[in-house]
Amino acid sequence: MIPININVNNSQMIIEWNNKMLSKIKLSDLRKFCPCAYCEKERENDHGKFEVYTQNQITIKKINMVGSYALNIIWNDDHSNGFYEFSYLKNISENIL
Ligand SMILES: [Zn+2]
Repeated sequence: MIPININVNNSQMIIEWNNKMLSKIKLSDLRKFCPCAYCEKERENDHGKFEVYTQNQITIKKINMVGSYALNIIWNDDHSNGFYEFSYLKNISENIL
């Protein structure tokens, strides 16, 4: 499954997949589940406690496609290490994580 359309509004990312399904992901969830090594470690140390983010941390500056398998999201605080595989995005939207 690959995204054919990605829209971002103030609070969520809406992905339209090539099978016509839609995934809606809250930007705070997207940031919370950033797949980079640094954030993974933070989540481990945090034991799943609720995180409070600044507006810059949950505002998307730029989205890059990585090959045909992932999105690289650059946040307004210049955090940009996360490569979100499509299947991972789907899991976030379905609260599987
Ligand atoms: Zn991260």
